[in-house]
Amino acid sequence: MKQYILAIDAGTTSARCILFDHAGQICATAQKELHVSYPHDGWVEQDAMEIWEAQIQVCRRVMEEHQIQPEQIAAIGMTNQRETTIVWDKSTGEPIAPAIVWQCRRTAQQADQLRERGLTETLRQKTGLVIDAYFSATKLQWILDNIPDARKRAQQGKLLFGTVDSWLIWKLTGGKRHITDASNAARTMLYNIHTLCWDAEILEELEIPAGMLPEVVPSSGIVAHTDIAFFGQEIPIAGIAGDQQAALFGQRCWQPGEAKNTYGTGCFLLMNTGTTPVSSSNGLLTTIAWNVDGQVTYALEGSIFVAGAAIQWLRDEVGLLSHSSESEQIANSVEDTGGVYLVPAFTGLGAPYWDAYARGLLIGITRATRREHIIRAALESLAYQTVDVLHGMEEDAKLALQRVKADGGASANDFLMQFQSDIMGVEVERPACVETTALGAAYLAGIAVGYWHDREELRATTTGGRRFEPKMDRQEREKLLRGWRKAVTRAQGWAKAE
Ligand code: ADP
Repeated sequence: MKQYILAIDAGTTSARCILFDHAGQICATAQKELHVSYPHDGWVEQDAMEIWEAQIQVCRRVMEEHQIQPEQIAAIGMTNQRETTIVWDKSTGEPIAPAIVWQCRRTAQQADQLRERGLTETLRQKTGLVIDAYFSATKLQWILDNIPDARKRAQQGKLLFGTVDSWLIWKLTGGKRHITDASNAARTMLYNIHTLCWDAEILEELEIPAGMLPEVVPSSGIVAHTDIAFFGQEIPIAGIAGDQQAALFGQRCWQPGEAKNTYGTGCFLLMNTGTTPVSSSNGLLTTIAWNVDGQVTYALEGSIFVAGAAIQWLRDEVGLLSHSSESEQIANSVEDTGGVYLVPAFTGLGAPYWDAYARGLLIGITRATRREHIIRAALESLAYQTVDVLHGMEEDAKLALQRVKADGGASANDFLMQFQSDIMGVEVERPACVETTALGAAYLAGIAVGYWHDREELRATTTGGRRFEPKMDRQEREKLLRGWRKAVTRAQGWAKAE
């Protein structure tokens, strides 16, 4: 009987399940949309029970629709939206609060307080992160402070905390395993990425009872088995990684200096920096990529807030496009932008500028500027922002970039991929299977159970796809980049009070 690896991709907007075969090809998928609620300005929540129920439903659906027997699943790999925080009752299995989603800003003040208490440097050194409401720590604090009796019950050992991977694995194992992997733990702001332990000093500062935290297990290895009740047979869970790190693994960025960029709503750039953590002078995060074969691999991470969202904005708010994909042909219909730059700093600028007061800017407009130029400038802005982060990464890591692997919805745009390669002066490689997040989880699980012998065997399986080589000459590239930097300067600080 043919064997498969089942990847659970627990995303923010949907629960997905993808079945991969030995060639790394997708054989079946199922997906269910998830609700996201916004109860107050800046608050983002999900129902943890809905996340669980949708996930088990899509797993069963894939197996039923394709008549897959449980014994045909060699292993399950898990990948998940990161940082999202869930606290549940150990005996009833009921969440005590909504899942606080990574995007939620409700704890911005708690983050400010941590900064005011002078913890910035300590937390950066220990966790590799910049203090922010984005990470799980302040979200967990919020639940302990705001749900009646939560802290007391947590101290009594009655409550458990987990990111979405922990929650789903706890459920899948019938409450037997309360675990997470280092790539997820590294996003909580509670985990020491050097000692590889929950950090006692941080837990004390934040008044978080250590007993509610999951055990940190390897990213690849048989770490649990599903309860027999779910698939009629126990299936090993053998891979876990947060979504961006899973994509880095799925893109085979296994060597230091290899990087991937996911072009979605925003962009997430991760670069493998090898076995030593690299601290950033450019506002990037230091994070754990994975812990495989007893060896931790680190990564530098930079996020761009508005990427594909700039194309959405042109489509939905400005009405210049009817479909995002149309942007490719329109951008190709003009030679260049005619000197127009769009800086999509709609919510400020992230790395390396970190300017919350920057705002969007369209500049260089002349009487000759047409719709096509603006659309092209929007696509180019994704590539320019990527270059800014990548230069920071190269500087921090003292590594020269070999190539960038691309994935995510907007990576389907050939114009963008070619321009990205041109403006970086580096090759861009887009695999045929852009489901790299799920593939990464499948790889981690498959290697652990011997479905694939090792990474060398995986290298031999083809990724197909397409390579984009830089064609632009250096002078032209530098001229365009100078224009971009000038435009960014004009956008900076715009929303600051007079
Ligand atoms: P996410 O996972 O962040 O929701 P996706 O990876 O699905 O995002 O990518 C969707 C984003 O990519 C949208 O913002 C959309 O505007 C943009 N996008 C999708 N297809 C294209 C395309 N062909 N050209 C440019 N942008 C695109």
